Amino acid sequence: MSSNEFYETTQALENYLRFCKEIGIGELPAGLAAGGTEIADTEKNGTALSPDRRDSHGSSAIQTLSEIREELGDCTRCRLCETRKSIVFGEGNPKARLVFVGEGPGRDEDIQGRPFVGRAGQLLTKIIQAMKLERKDVYICNVVKCRPPKNRNPEPDEVASCEPFLMKQIESINPEIIVSLGSVATGLMLKLKNFKMGQLRGTFHQYGNSKLMITYHPAALLRNPSFKKPVWEDMKLVMKELGIPVNG
Ligand code: SF4
Repeated sequence: MSSNEFYETTQALENYLRFCKEIGIGELPAGLAAGGTEIADTEKNGTALSPDRRDSHGSSAIQTLSEIREELGDCTRCRLCETRKSIVFGEGNPKARLVFVGEGPGRDEDIQGRPFVGRAGQLLTKIIQAMKLERKDVYICNVVKCRPPKNRNPEPDEVASCEPFLMKQIESINPEIIVSLGSVATGLMLKLKNFKMGQLRGTFHQYGNSKLMITYHPAALLRNPSFKKPVWEDMKLVMKELGIPVNG
């Protein structure tokens, strides 16, 4: 290993440790503890990227993400169109094995037109990186594509108006795993009204072809740091399912 390579490797390790510390992870994935090469290996062998199952769709009835976005157009299907600046459709790998579904855009997202770019989004990015993935490896979107005023929860009729587009996105991507972030996404995905997040998280549910992991929204982690540990436990289950080495 050259001195440059050594420097880059130690920088990558330092960055990763910083992410772990920031989101409250007290243990390191296997392999990293043994020498810090696991991150590079995972990136190289493409564990996080599109597997063969994605090529097996075949049906012309399934739209591409571009076609779905085109169909959404300058949407006025619900009242959230009246106050939005941007439609925040979603972004990431159109053939991702892992999709994160949040609630709806906040102020920063509305301004930038991108999902999860504010404080909660930055925390989600760190969680993704702690899972040895990058945002470009996964797909990130929300239940509603327009910001609810003052960041209130979307109303049921707003969720119902936007839901078909989320369903089409998921059908198009056909991920192995969906992570539902928070109660709005969870209520929609599992068609539940009264539930406790703590009773649903920590195990996989089924959503169509995909396994569904329920966990707390990053915004909840910012308000309540005690949620960090269960979220990391949930993400370790996701990593295992994706074949990404974890410790414990
Ligand atoms: S939230 Fe969804 S349904 Fe409502 S206006 Fe925006 S894109 Fe259309």
